[in-house]
Amino acid sequence: MRPPARQQPPLRHLMKSLAAIAAELEGYDPQALPAVTVSAFLEALTDPLRDTETVALVQALDRVLAADIVSPISVPPHDNAAMDGYAVRGSTLRANADTILRVVGTVLAGQARWDAPIPDDACIRIMTGAVMPEGLDTVVPVELVQHEAAGDCADIEYIRVPAGAVRPGDHRRLCGEDLMAGQAALRAGQRLGPAALGLIASLGIAQVSVVRRPRVAYFSTGDEILTLGEPLRPGAVYDSNRYTVTALLRRLGVEVIDLGVVRDDPAALEDTFRRASAMADAVITSGGVSMGEADHTRAMMRRLGEVVFWRIAMRPGRPMAVGRLQPPGRESPTLLFGLPGNPVAVMVTFLAFVRPALLRLMGARDTAPLLMRARSAEPMRKKPGRTEYQRGVVTRDAEGTLWVRTTGNQGSGVLRSMVEANALIVLAHGQGSVAPGDAVDVMLFDGVI
Ligand code: AMP
Ligand code: MG
Repeated sequence: MRPPARQQPPLRHLMKSLAAIAAELEGYDPQALPAVTVSAFLEALTDPLRDTETVALVQALDRVLAADIVSPISVPPHDNAAMDGYAVRGSTLRANADTILRVVGTVLAGQARWDAPIPDDACIRIMTGAVMPEGLDTVVPVELVQHEAAGDCADIEYIRVPAGAVRPGDHRRLCGEDLMAGQAALRAGQRLGPAALGLIASLGIAQVSVVRRPRVAYFSTGDEILTLGEPLRPGAVYDSNRYTVTALLRRLGVEVIDLGVVRDDPAALEDTFRRASAMADAVITSGGVSMGEADHTRAMMRRLGEVVFWRIAMRPGRPMAVGRLQPPGRESPTLLFGLPGNPVAVMVTFLAFVRPALLRLMGARDTAPLLMRARSAEPMRKKPGRTEYQRGVVTRDAEGTLWVRTTGNQGSGVLRSMVEANALIVLAHGQGSVAPGDAVDVMLFDGVI
């Protein structure tokens, strides 16, 4: 069990400055930062939220457990039949000849354990899920037995179990096979998916303690960015980042605060940053973090808190700003993620860096994206010294081998490349060009996008 939140020391005494985090990282060069160093920085920067709440199990999908769940019962709570058939004593089955057994009763699922004595030459008809009678340890499936003529006594039933039909212990589920009483069924930090909800329900537990959902504010920046409904004018583009980022956030299960589009205007930016950071545990912006003339986002972030600006050795998505500020009267700081404006770059930097950081904030234990290996169906040009995230389509051939090809134009503004993809191809920092048939890392979108 994790200690309750109030016994922990206040967070701000444990907080390292961004400069101190950077100083501890090998290869920290803000002008050419390897993607792995970005991940290490963000891991050092983000602490799980400490507030917890108790919610009904049906409300707990995608939440993160705040404390271990210790099983109050064994699951299943008794030895039971795994198939419809006849419960027998495994030791009475003859190895080299058929065994004839008398059927002395029936137990159905949901009935109490059979408690009358059962002679050695007898068996009990049993249904799937029914409690195994005392002393009987094996189920002979109904389809494996032959029914014997009972002679004069029509009400006495015999079965013949062919030699070798089953081994002792077959087709019986053991008490506690899934979980033993007193065992930790799930650990704190577990994200609750459908299977975990079912497991908790199987323990008879109707409420769980979960980490508070982070509140994450988002706004787009840029004078050229139009809100839907505005007429298109020369030089302007509609705001797509607002829709990709807020949807990615909703998939993650955080509370989203959508602040729309903010002009490249210092006063408007400062006002929105202040409002956002007062409300949220993390603020994400897109645009305005490159070196452009009118990019005031950088300057504003610097005025408000501790910020680092990076040129990440990656493609797409080079510029990124990360910061932290301490809203007055709040114990935990607000994290700032200034993402690049290009529609693909914003999604890639979100998936590579922001998503794992938010999962950490949510208290989740496993935060790194799962990479798999697939063989490249085509050559890919790649320079060593940066991580590349190409948009890919993974397919499986008749032998079960995974293959990946890129979607068309890989420009960082071409959102279609993300729509057509079902994975990101992650070409590692040190890697050079890829030849057809070479194995590459892929990160599947399933469940993420
Ligand atoms: P910036 O990072 O502000 O220099 O923007 C880089 C590119 O991304 C520019 O072409 C912008 O027009 C485009 N862009 C920035 N923000 C958005 C957005 N919210 N939706 C669509 N495109 C954007
Ligand atoms: Mg801009």
